[in-house]
Amino acid sequence: MMYSKISSIILCKCLRCREGNMFTNSPFSIQFGRRAYTHCPVCNLKFEREPGFFEGGMYFNYALNVAILANSGLATYYFLNDPNPYVYFGVSASMVVLLVSFTSRLSKSLMLHLFGGVSYAPEFQSKNTKKEINI
Ligand SMILES: [Zn+2]
Repeated sequence: MMYSKISSIILCKCLRCREGNMFTNSPFSIQFGRRAYTHCPVCNLKFEREPGFFEGGMYFNYALNVAILANSGLATYYFLNDPNPYVYFGVSASMVVLLVSFTSRLSKSLMLHLFGGVSYAPEFQSKNTKKEINI
């Protein structure tokens, strides 16, 4: 399965092969999908490019949460007809909490794909992708 750059960021795929997963669980699992592989299960690329590499992801996490707050505030204003300020707070805070699994994964994926320093190399993909055709 071939993934584009954008879809491999959104689906948290490996930077080099775009096939291996960064995280062990789905974002809907009980551990909030935050368990990550240290190395790519397909091409064995080390995900933490240098010590503390993923701490830079908190800037992406901050930006994503600001976008969620702004959009949920605008949606509250338009769809609930400018309600009480407590409603704004409740809607915005609950949207951030509900989406924390996605924002934490996406921020790490953005950090890896934008600052990982490794380019896409299809030769690192596993060779058993033809299984999909033989079904
Ligand atoms: Zn890989």
